[in-house]
Amino acid sequence: MNVISNHMPTADLQTLDAAHHMHPFSDGADLARVGARVITGANGVTLTDSEGHKILDAMAGLWCVNIGYGRDELADAAARQMKELPYYNTFFQTTHVPVIALSAKLAELAPRDLNHVFYAGSGSEANDTNIRLVRHYWMAKGQPDRNIIISRKNAYHGSTLGGGSLGGMSGMQNQGVPVIPGIHHIDQPDWWSEGGDKTPEEFGLERARQLEAAIKELGADRVAAFIAEPVQGAGGVIVPPSTYWPEIQRICDEYGILLIADEVICGFGRTGHWFGSEYYGIRPHIMTIAKGLSSGYAPIGGSMVCDEVAHTINEAGDFNHGYTYSGHPVSCAVALENLRILQEEKIVETVANETGPYLKEKWESLTDHPMVGEANIVGMMGSIALTPHKESRAKFAADTGTVGLACRTRCFANGLVMRHVGDRMIISPPLVISKAEIDTLIERARLSLDETYEQIKTDGLFVAG
Ligand SMILES: *Cc1c(COP(=O)(O)O)cnc(C)c1O
Repeated sequence: MNVISNHMPTADLQTLDAAHHMHPFSDGADLARVGARVITGANGVTLTDSEGHKILDAMAGLWCVNIGYGRDELADAAARQMKELPYYNTFFQTTHVPVIALSAKLAELAPRDLNHVFYAGSGSEANDTNIRLVRHYWMAKGQPDRNIIISRKNAYHGSTLGGGSLGGMSGMQNQGVPVIPGIHHIDQPDWWSEGGDKTPEEFGLERARQLEAAIKELGADRVAAFIAEPVQGAGGVIVPPSTYWPEIQRICDEYGILLIADEVICGFGRTGHWFGSEYYGIRPHIMTIAKGLSSGYAPIGGSMVCDEVAHTINEAGDFNHGYTYSGHPVSCAVALENLRILQEEKIVETVANETGPYLKEKWESLTDHPMVGEANIVGMMGSIALTPHKESRAKFAADTGTVGLACRTRCFANGLVMRHVGDRMIISPPLVISKAEIDTLIERARLSLDETYEQIKTDGLFVAG
């Protein structure tokens, strides 16, 4: 058999891939029919595929390659660590230098007294940990009945049984989740789709107060925690109205329930702050971290925990929970090097003061396009809503996502990775994207929007439903 390498013809790679590789979040029949795009290399913000195409990755992989591709320092950190100590565990009173160094660094970077880290291999696992952590915490406080976790519809908290049960994405429901009892979902603060005649500010308050109503209905002494992403990512980059988070914070304070901020996307500079919680001025007891923590160069996730919760758990005897790869030394070494680069190269400040505002202005200018309703953007995560009628914020008559998918296809053809969530187009580029590269991103996005617009008019799809 031939050696499988970058030199193999694309079609052969695709055939082997479809025959033996089951893909996440993909239609297997489509893969077999059309074949997957084979990515062979990447540098900075640019991917190369097996046909030699150069593609601007406006999604930073899956929202994670914050420092961009091709940083040798991270490869060197991994190689050094693998040679020195490729693996040891952190169970049963053992530890190692990379996990100590990373934990101390994270405690320094995280807001307030979020000084403690429980490691996982991914964001999903970290949210599984959070379920056990908050229930164990209230048990230790002598309140075992406080075990309900409130989450939101159209939230994404990962794909494990725990993460999937916490999440509220309709496409995942009835595929084996939700299965964890004691999780209650309230509505999301998506003004464009669900705000009706209300102003965004009125709507934000109303949606936040659903949390209070749920606490009263379920019983204040039964609710353990509320979990939410500061800005919903996979749900379509939904930026909540300005009134939303202050009211959520008020309610969490008033009823004494734990606030879990899922910072898997928002963390590590994506919003122009180190954490989305700082952007919104909220005070979580626990933050979920992953993705940008290592810029995706090695798998790692975790829960950052405040002093009081950590001390309570530490005083309560063994916490019988952990993963073989909790605090994996190679991942920790890679994450540390990634944080060093983010900090020393002032990447977060650049997003806040230079490239973020530049992208915001260009991104919002897309609303002059006949098919673009609102534009949402915070730091380096943005969305636009596609609509056949801006004033009424109407949806297309065609199945949700038909137009979005057509647009994504045009983007790929034009050398741009831009994802669609239903009929919203979303971006989350590497934080190191330059102004010139932002210009290219916007040019390609506009060209793709134009082509999609022409195509759907021809196909009779520019019609409100
Ligand atoms: C991606 C994501 C997760 C899951 O992280 P994985 O590393 O894919 O398990 C959890 N929460 C949010 C907000 C995410 O975006």
